[in-house]
Amino acid sequence: MSNQNQEILYVYKNKVYLNITNKCPCACTFCIRSKKDAIGNASNLWLDHNPSFEEVKEAVDSFNFDGYDEIIFCGYGEPTNSFEVLIKTAQYLRQKLNIKIRVNTNGLGSLINERDISEELCKNVDFISISLNCSNKEDYLKTVRPKFGIKSYDEMLDFAKKCKKYTDNVVLSVVDVIGEDEVEKCRKIADNLGITFRVRKYNGSAT
Ligand code: SF4
Repeated sequence: MSNQNQEILYVYKNKVYLNITNKCPCACTFCIRSKKDAIGNASNLWLDHNPSFEEVKEAVDSFNFDGYDEIIFCGYGEPTNSFEVLIKTAQYLRQKLNIKIRVNTNGLGSLINERDISEELCKNVDFISISLNCSNKEDYLKTVRPKFGIKSYDEMLDFAKKCKKYTDNVVLSVVDVIGEDEVEKCRKIADNLGITFRVRKYNGSAT
């Protein structure tokens, strides 16, 4: 059953978001989670527990999607930490609604799940946005602070490359606060991989 501290679905800037977990192997220095308890129309994105598929389904079923054309897995945690729920929910959304499905991820889902999840993820969603964040592994370690350590940056890039095999709808993104030089270095990395690059305005959003 949903309750006050179990806000799974929320709206932010006319897009629908799913907050399916608070777990994350990172502690990004810029993560909004350390600054406030919610964004958009949510009041508290800290969950009492990791929602089951049934709970996410209930949140989806209770929402009127009229006027919305995209739903995004992105909340106060890394969505691939609840990978089974993510996939089941994406499949349910495809059956139920004509809506684009995006995942905003830190790109460490294969490390998290201890197996290569790229193909399964790409086949079940329409867009994948991976946070590149930095142009090199040392800065990434300092900024993203992943529990998997220094190998995380290369693993994130490898995940992006694998996703690119399965879909053209993969993006590597950075936030604009990293500075122009760093943005250009990151752009080159994405270009070299043949992956679309996006600079996001920093608005404090998680991932
Ligand atoms: S920004 Fe995303 S990846 Fe970084 S700590 Fe927050 S939820 Fe995790």
